Amino acid sequence: MKMKYVERFGLIIILSAFVTVSTFAQSKALVNTSQSPHALLSSVNMGDVQWTNGFWADRFRVCRDSMIPNMWRIYADPKMGHAVQNFEIAAGLDTGSHVGPPFQDGDFYKLFEAAASVYAITKDKKLDELMDKTIAIIGKAQRADGYIHTPAEIEERNHPGVKAAFQDRLNFETYNLGHLMTAACVHYRATGKTTFLNIAIKATDYLYRFYKTASPELARNAICPSHYMGVVEMYRTTRDPKYLELAKNLIDIRGLMKEGTDDNQDRIPFREQTKALGHAVRANYLYAGAADVYAETGDTTLLHTLNLVWNDVVNHKMYVTGGCGALYDGASPDGTSYLLKDVQEVHQAYGRDYQLPNYTAHNETCASVGNVLWNWRMLQLTGKAKYADVMELTLYNGLLSGISLNGTKFLYTNPLAVSDDLPFAQRWSKDRVGYIGYSNCCPPNVIRTISEVSNYAYNVSDKGLWFNLYGSSNLSTTLKDGSPVKLTQQTNYPWNGAISITLQQVPANAFSLFIRIPGWSKNARLTVNGKPAKAILKPGTYAELNGKWHSGDKIELQLPMPVTMVEANPLVEETRNQIAVKRGPVVYCVESAGVPKGKKVLNLSLSAKANLHAQNITIDNAHLIGLSGKATVIDNNKWKNQLYREVNSKSLGMVAVQLIPYFAWGNRGHVEMETWIPFSR
Ligand SMILES: [Zn+2]
Repeated sequence: MKMKYVERFGLIIILSAFVTVSTFAQSKALVNTSQSPHALLSSVNMGDVQWTNGFWADRFRVCRDSMIPNMWRIYADPKMGHAVQNFEIAAGLDTGSHVGPPFQDGDFYKLFEAAASVYAITKDKKLDELMDKTIAIIGKAQRADGYIHTPAEIEERNHPGVKAAFQDRLNFETYNLGHLMTAACVHYRATGKTTFLNIAIKATDYLYRFYKTASPELARNAICPSHYMGVVEMYRTTRDPKYLELAKNLIDIRGLMKEGTDDNQDRIPFREQTKALGHAVRANYLYAGAADVYAETGDTTLLHTLNLVWNDVVNHKMYVTGGCGALYDGASPDGTSYLLKDVQEVHQAYGRDYQLPNYTAHNETCASVGNVLWNWRMLQLTGKAKYADVMELTLYNGLLSGISLNGTKFLYTNPLAVSDDLPFAQRWSKDRVGYIGYSNCCPPNVIRTISEVSNYAYNVSDKGLWFNLYGSSNLSTTLKDGSPVKLTQQTNYPWNGAISITLQQVPANAFSLFIRIPGWSKNARLTVNGKPAKAILKPGTYAELNGKWHSGDKIELQLPMPVTMVEANPLVEETRNQIAVKRGPVVYCVESAGVPKGKKVLNLSLSAKANLHAQNITIDNAHLIGLSGKATVIDNNKWKNQLYREVNSKSLGMVAVQLIPYFAWGNRGHVEMETWIPFSR
């Protein structure tokens, strides 16, 4: 007979007399790779980083004060989200029907995760009470066997005898369970309480048993597989080996059936895939989950696929904003043959290489979240800055564009251009909306990511401390050997590339500081106490500063941020002879509010030598850097019912234009917008 002990706050609680000895992990990291044998980096604890001022402090404040309270109100409103009511009805605390999409539980768990992440920093008692109250309802909604998915439970409650649980492999049970697991791990790490974690343990145990006995068809239930990440994180929290067994099994059983699709990335086994395919949210969640499994197992066949697919995404399929998933709908590039019956539909999906349309870009906000989750995990595995580059690009552009500056309006899709002249309506609004309705998956996803960015700023490894994302912050953490480190970082990044780090508490032993030199940067300068650092400052790498450090030591990084014109590979036909404008990691666009009245955004043309000046601007109380300059206006109107005509070279002269960060577009009412702008060399 073996005993299971859980050590918490110095107490040893005997949980069960018949399971293996185990203790919950002590690390309070958002993603806990501290014991992952195949991850080079691990995270600091939640709450170790406090934004102090500047960009992320501002976004965090809006998240705490506006994004979370607003979205929680929506999910608790029986006439809108109905998410809390679904749990109450499933729990028998209320009566009625399930309202909302089948993935509503999972989306609510994402919002819950955001609240727990904010609590880790603010220790706000009201938030704690709200979470406790909600956990009690969720706990009551959980079946005795651990199953929890309110659409099926309510169906079974309202129609005794009907079996609704796990009847359809294309349902969202595992998506919901995955987000439950992640939110519960985050809640445990943020609060030290095991209330939500115990619900997740019951749910993960249920899933483990389900996969042991389910039909092969049902066992491949994996729509938007958040549960790969969730199950691994449960393993990291509990160290229960059966969760790792489950995670490995989840990857192994993919693609072992005849009915698999490229849309769901299960037409062929994961290890045989070489390209990014299908629904981009599902894909990026799968890749992130596979990276988690690799971190624990070291299975190089998984890493091999991840490397091939990552190269495919970054070299052929990712937007300049970090957005993923070009197609609203389409046919799978690879799952097709000349026999039309084999042509597979895809939706919200990666397209072919270089297929990156602007007006009709799907670019779901959730796919950007998935891109961040995936690249974060690749960074943890390898310590390679190229993953931090993609993560940063996506955060500042294709992800933040999904939420308004005031935190209450959202985009489901993130087009790179909007024209009122396009003579067809696209599904999903190109104006920001308060509630996306059936497809409200993105708002809580972007909110939880913003609440958690501080957890991505720093890492630790056996050799020292890593600086991934820059932002004014206080860090108080411990190195891998347990020695405490405290420092402050002061910067106005991403608007200014001057970063100043002051060490406040350091161990006596020598250790390294790994300073990220972004891939976009040129001529970076790094000094230690005013003297040039002896380090290689290669863009797209970490500069290692090794030595004995002292309290008061000052490390200063200068990243020049000139305005840069970017062109795309000419095989991207939608952007031929156009440029995108970048400054630092931020991609710019021009919208109607930035051109003189009566002039159309889509008639502008920019010289590659255009002198664009950075200027402070404020949109909806957010302080940003805009770019002002002059653009040529071409007479390009009156196209109605014409497809072709002789070139009209008449220029209407130069006008003043203001470019704004792409993520800030659409915050000044309805606008037309363009990211790729025609240019002359
Ligand atoms: Zn979404």
